[in-house]
Amino acid sequence: MKDSNCIFCKISGGEIPSKTIYEDEEFRVILDISPATKGHALILPKEHYANIYEMPEETAAHVMKLARKLAVHMKETLKCDGLNIMQNNGEAAGQTVFHFHMHLIPRYKQDGNEDKLCWNHLELSEEEFQAIHQKLKL
Ligand code: AMP
Ligand code: ZN
Repeated sequence: MKDSNCIFCKISGGEIPSKTIYEDEEFRVILDISPATKGHALILPKEHYANIYEMPEETAAHVMKLARKLAVHMKETLKCDGLNIMQNNGEAAGQTVFHFHMHLIPRYKQDGNEDKLCWNHLELSEEEFQAIHQKLKL
């Protein structure tokens, strides 16, 4: 399924040109237009899923397999020192384009993002830890 108002549907379908670095039947991988670092890429499924909650388990498995392939490729070709894999779901998590995408962000020593890709650390009491532990156990 595609969403006619979705820019990533148009890009993944080839309707809007992009700097594609990989394509198969299921995915297109493009360079991010506003990259965090050189080589910042996005894995786009060609089907429209707004987020990970909507995506079938099998597709999610394929995304991870492709992420690994690209990670190895980036390490070899870019000689990057590290790599962040990020995937935002919902406005609260920083998602701005509501078509599932996975960020692959090659990292370089002193790339200026040292303090960007991190978060604050909560200090939880043992009771708070226990409560969240009970809630989350599958
Ligand atoms: P997120 O905040 O996880 O939703 O990330 C959206 C990403 O899509 C951002 O890093 C944008 O720079 C990127 N982006 C938005 N529009 C385009 C576009 N037309 N081509 C390539 N990347 C885009
Ligand atoms: Zn879409």
